[in-house]
Amino acid sequence: MPATEATAAPAAERALSAPQKALRKLGLVRPIDLALHLPLRYEDETHLTPLAEAARTLSDAPLQFEATVVHHEVAYRPRRQLLVTVEDGGERCLLRFFNFYPSQLKQMAVGTRLRVRGELRGGFGGLAMMHPVVRAAGGALPQALTPIYPTVAGLPQPYLRKAVLGGLEQADLSDTLPDEVLSEIGHLRPWDLRKALSFLHQPTPDTALAQLEDHSHPAWQRLKAEELLAQQLSQLRARRARQHLRAPVLPAQRGGLHEALLAALPFQLTGAQRRVGEEIAHDLARAQPMHRLLQGDVGSGKTAVAALAACIAIDAGWQCALMAPTEILAEQHFAKLADWLAPLLAPRGRQVAWLTGGQKKKARADMLAAIESGAAALVIGTHAVIQQQVRFARLGLAVIDEQHRFGVQQRLDLRNKLSEAEQEPHLLMMSATPIPRTLAMSYYADLDVSTLDELPPGRTPVITRLVAQARRGEVIERIRAQIAQGRQVYWVCPLIEESEALDLRHASATHAELAAALPGQAVGLLHSRLPPADKQAVMQQFVSGAMPVLVSTTVIEVGVDVPNASLMVIEHAERFGLSQLHQLRGRVGRGAAASACVLLYATPEGGRLGDSARERLKAMVETSDGFEIARRDLAIRGPGEFLGARQSGDALLRFADLAEDAPLLAWARRAAPRLLDHWPERAARHVDRWLGGRMDYLKA
Ligand code: ADP
Ligand code: MG
Repeated sequence: MPATEATAAPAAERALSAPQKALRKLGLVRPIDLALHLPLRYEDETHLTPLAEAARTLSDAPLQFEATVVHHEVAYRPRRQLLVTVEDGGERCLLRFFNFYPSQLKQMAVGTRLRVRGELRGGFGGLAMMHPVVRAAGGALPQALTPIYPTVAGLPQPYLRKAVLGGLEQADLSDTLPDEVLSEIGHLRPWDLRKALSFLHQPTPDTALAQLEDHSHPAWQRLKAEELLAQQLSQLRARRARQHLRAPVLPAQRGGLHEALLAALPFQLTGAQRRVGEEIAHDLARAQPMHRLLQGDVGSGKTAVAALAACIAIDAGWQCALMAPTEILAEQHFAKLADWLAPLLAPRGRQVAWLTGGQKKKARADMLAAIESGAAALVIGTHAVIQQQVRFARLGLAVIDEQHRFGVQQRLDLRNKLSEAEQEPHLLMMSATPIPRTLAMSYYADLDVSTLDELPPGRTPVITRLVAQARRGEVIERIRAQIAQGRQVYWVCPLIEESEALDLRHASATHAELAAALPGQAVGLLHSRLPPADKQAVMQQFVSGAMPVLVSTTVIEVGVDVPNASLMVIEHAERFGLSQLHQLRGRVGRGAAASACVLLYATPEGGRLGDSARERLKAMVETSDGFEIARRDLAIRGPGEFLGARQSGDALLRFADLAEDAPLLAWARRAAPRLLDHWPERAARHVDRWLGGRMDYLKA
């Protein structure tokens, strides 16, 4: 049985057959994984339709009939093909095959009776079928609908079907849900896991296919309910486990750095910043580690909130680390925070440290020493911050900016940076890609969420325009006008995933074109292959205002803050994801100047934009509210993809849909604590069954 072989020792791994490897690729390892691999759709092979009847009704659905071969030839025009005419009850049908084997010629010799399955077409030439499935007539008809499973290359349906049935037999499907827990969804009580799965893998022919396909059948409902419950249980367990963890108590103090920074900031906090700041301060004063997601639209002022939180940690005698996903962003945070904090820290004998991959050895050694001695009160950097050589004296708070850009492992590593017995640092994650409430509730049941729902005053809204590629010349004119007013411009070229080299060529060509069109103006080029020092130099020139135009690949996507920039051009906007477009647009409109975002789009040759591209561009024009953007993004892409495999640890929900199955989700949220409190053994079995080896991800 593939199910058991798949769990064998690594030595046996090389001996795996192609379909066995394909099973692994699909994550179908344990018998229960196979049993939970459910059909996409079904085919009804349980009965035969007489050809005469099929000719009368002629529907799109595939059907099967039995008939006798009366004619048989290989034709060569317009191309080589096998033509077989079959007859039954006075009705004839032409079977046409473009690819065929010699064995098929024999199988369909004149006089043979065949069972034929496919989509029947009518027309002037009479009945016909293209590439039907053909076998000898007679033989028993299946008793159940034939399931069609999601699969990959090298894993044929019959093999997969057998493996799934094997899994179904071997898996432990004993019920985990006591009646009491099911009382709110009593109509699903008869459909325990074993019954639901057996049914869905082999539904009886009298089942309404529509109910199976739109997942409204109680068997499907039961599976969704169980899946949602598993997810809620695992989150609840993680939350409870965290309650036993200890973190340093960081009480807010009067007369410290926190107050000094508030006084030194060149602006008043918004109401939202003040409220969120209090939520964070409240968490930091507790002996349990904070796990808080701070979400706020681009430009809502998350950095200041993070800086104030850092001050609380520093006031209490601890260190704070801030990790950003790119060097450019880390650099910028460093510039801004050092500007704010270094003058306040210096009299206290402390400093702001800076760590990246591209740093010189000597500078790095100095920073590492300052971090280890505790002289570095705040440490800012890229992934370099979590490397092993980095030893914090007393890490009390870790801040992760643009958290969706980091993997789960990196988050875990940062949490492990406080090596004192049984303690973890407080964790603040920041994101400009807000997550709609239902998703946050479900995916982040283990996180507390704070939201900055207010932008600092004085921002002028960014006007967004769609412009066809053919009118590129007008866009360049517009750039000229902006420069004449002393403004700055971004021009972003897309990332084509398959080829970084091609991206660079494209960006370089655009760079050359703009430099030629704007003589006497500095036009910069920024991309990920530039050495860090060059990147820094280009960015520095743009930030200082000496460079009016910056051509860039998406490296500037996150966080870059140049208030004098007033025009953002995004080329091939149709290739970007919605949240990425929103992030990019957020780079302008940061100062008082009226700002614009031009989305240059190109239609595929002779064609129209795809539906989802059109929806994305439309959303960009219609709204600039990050929360509304997130809602639309979710609607266009669906939650699995929306969160991305990285963030969710894997596509965690296979069957349930958070929007559609909100009532089941509500049930699962109430049922999880009851099951965990009163039937802990069942709860453990339930989670293991559904989530198996993915627990680590869920805990992060
Ligand atoms: P994001 O939330 O996108 O990270 P930033 O923290 O980069 O936003 O803030 C965007 C800009 O707004 C920065 O220039 C920052 O200094 C400024 N800013 C932050 N808070 C305020 C405020 N309360 N009033 C005015 N400007 C602010
Ligand atoms: Mg930011």
